[in-house]
Amino acid sequence: KQKKRTQLTDLMDDVSEYYYQNLLDHPKKNQAVTYLKNRGLSGQIAKMFQIGFAPDGWQNLIDKFAKKDEILHQLLAAGMIVEKESDPKSNKASRVYDRFRSRIMFPIRNNRGKTIAFGGRVLTDEKPKYLNSPETPIFSKGQELYGLYEIKKYSKNVERIIVVEGYMDVVALFQAGVGYAVATLGTATSVTHIQTLFKQVDEIVFCFDGDEAGKKAAHRAFEQCLNEVKDGRQIKFLFLPEGEDPDSMVRKIGKDAFEEQVKQSKTLSDYMIEYLQTQVDVNSEAGRAKLVELAKPYMISLPDGIFKQLLGKRFSTLVGVELQFGAFEPTVVKTFE
Ligand code: ATP
Ligand code: MN
Ligand code: MN
Ligand code: MN
Repeated sequence: KQKKRTQLTDLMDDVSEYYYQNLLDHPKKNQAVTYLKNRGLSGQIAKMFQIGFAPDGWQNLIDKFAKKDEILHQLLAAGMIVEKESDPKSNKASRVYDRFRSRIMFPIRNNRGKTIAFGGRVLTDEKPKYLNSPETPIFSKGQELYGLYEIKKYSKNVERIIVVEGYMDVVALFQAGVGYAVATLGTATSVTHIQTLFKQVDEIVFCFDGDEAGKKAAHRAFEQCLNEVKDGRQIKFLFLPEGEDPDSMVRKIGKDAFEEQVKQSKTLSDYMIEYLQTQVDVNSEAGRAKLVELAKPYMISLPDGIFKQLLGKRFSTLVGVELQFGAFEPTVVKTFE
């Protein structure tokens, strides 16, 4: 099984190299090169991320790689080619076609640098804008982070990692000199993602798009991360102005201003309290009581420690009652004065 996986990732590395070479010498490379340049990316960044180009045509990968049936099956298993349902009698090679056509290709690499999947972006405003590899024996979306391998490879002394939505956000930030962003792959942030990141750094900053979907993604990340906020670790949130994403933002305000905003981003405590305050009327007793009820599940999720105690103190001050959030239930501390 392990040998099969190694075969697949070796093949995916070759495919990635092929897409990258297309960017350098394919007859139609200009449309891809122009696209990347218009988005502010240099050849050097393309090389670092091995960004490539899948030209149009239905059989490019098949013609290039699948001379043998064995490889054809590997390309199928890796999700790079797709089987047509019709025409079961014709030979296999004519019943399959390339999944990625006319797209900018972003290889997703595992922590050893082996290619395990791709994201592909159209060069126009066609839909779907992005196409991702399906789940395969070598790729589980909920576990991988685009850009993590590149951070380890190219960035030194990283103090924090920024979590963004898109491939272009990661690459544009890197291009701007912010070489410490990763993207979840069109999926929600998972506990596994957070655990993986905390193995690398003590601080995670979530910075999603400045729209409703981005806010939802941030809230979901907030809920997923609570269990992992042990003392010594920190989670923060950078909310962007409406309509911006990290890519557009860093190109608009530049590296220094962007990094300043990252440093000043909202703490987990502030996020939690501000969020809860939008749910209740803190000026009424009933509202403050409800706030404690709503805070309970969050507080219970936090590991015991100083951070949890300090946050508990803030809630106590906010509602005007001394609270202690234990592992299971907040209890009102009895005081005799
Ligand atoms: P760009 O700047 O290239 O237009 P983006 O990264 O800002 O794209 P968003 O629409 O904000 O794109 O989406 C964020 C991420 O979500 C994408 O990078 C991609 O990983 C994923 N995604 C977006 N649209 C799709 C789609 N139609 N199918 C699958 N994944 C998608
Ligand atoms: Mn978006
Ligand atoms: Mn974008
Ligand atoms: Mn976006």
